[in-house]
Amino acid sequence: MNNKTPIIPGTVIIAHDIHATSQDGLDRALDFLAADYDIKDCMKDEYHPHSGYFATLKESVFQNLTKCDFCGHLNTQLACKVHGYSCKNCGKVLYKEYVKGGTIRFSFRNDESMKYVTLYIHSYENDRIICYPKPAKTEAYFSAKNPVQHLEQFKDEYEVVTVDGKRMLSFFYPAKWKKVDRTINMAEVRGAPNTKRQHYRSVCVYKGEVFEDRYELGVKDSFMIYDTFKYAPFKDTGRLHAKIMSMAGQVSRCDYYYQDRRPSFNDTQLGWMKTAVETFTDLPKEEFAYFLQTCRKDGPGFICQLAQFVEKHTKVKQYLENHPDVQEILKEKKVCSYYDIDGVDFIFKMGEIISKKGRN
Ligand SMILES: [Zn+2]
Repeated sequence: MNNKTPIIPGTVIIAHDIHATSQDGLDRALDFLAADYDIKDCMKDEYHPHSGYFATLKESVFQNLTKCDFCGHLNTQLACKVHGYSCKNCGKVLYKEYVKGGTIRFSFRNDESMKYVTLYIHSYENDRIICYPKPAKTEAYFSAKNPVQHLEQFKDEYEVVTVDGKRMLSFFYPAKWKKVDRTINMAEVRGAPNTKRQHYRSVCVYKGEVFEDRYELGVKDSFMIYDTFKYAPFKDTGRLHAKIMSMAGQVSRCDYYYQDRRPSFNDTQLGWMKTAVETFTDLPKEEFAYFLQTCRKDGPGFICQLAQFVEKHTKVKQYLENHPDVQEILKEKKVCSYYDIDGVDFIFKMGEIISKKGRN
């Protein structure tokens, strides 16, 4: 089951968001969703006010949790990837970052050359990683050429301890972030072969039911609600084709897509554009449906043909956005028009512009 945006009379769904087709529809949607969703009026956003409402499932209805592999208890997800994260019920450790036989790769904070050293992990206790040197190996370019000498150089940054009769190095490295200086910058931590580090599964709980796969949930956890009817039918000021595409969550810049005619839009996305056109524009519905069946589906081709379709019906010239690498030249010479960007014609035109530019 795919996660669905709720279907509410007086609204349509485009690109997973709800667009109201009337004030009634908007009121009904906000009313209906208030039971399960927190709804934020984006016009009241402190930093970036914009139209629409943002709906997210309430915490009382939906939670992200972790399920203990040992006892099945559901723990809150806070910092579950921290070494020593343990089950609130059975107390067993559910996640280990540093395991015996694993490796750490790090550089010393005081080392301006930022050379890396790799050491094997023996154990982790009391905020310290106990390590022993890795046998000599071909070192990468940015690693210390002589790890032993390198470690010697920074001997103030760790303690030398004896564990099981062997000399080991002990680094202060709190698993949970603390307001203290760590003397090393960790670049990579690896587990040991055949050692499981994680003993929990991420789950989500919706209305008391546990889902291991959030796509099984059946409802969307967040989406927008727009008062689109207030602006409909959309006036065409030369960018209606772009508006139709952006509503369907698609970029309307020709250069954004592959230029080799491979299809860039699927039926779902084209269906969203159809809904947008039928609901919020004065463009002829049947002709647009036919257009969608017959038009090119590659990025630049589709955009150009959509612009032509819109232009034909609104009689308003469409302005296409296209910024290939030579965008400055194109902008200057105003050849961003869609009649020029297709295939051979385009290449010739570009050659002409560039050579003219050279002569100037
Ligand atoms: Zn447990």
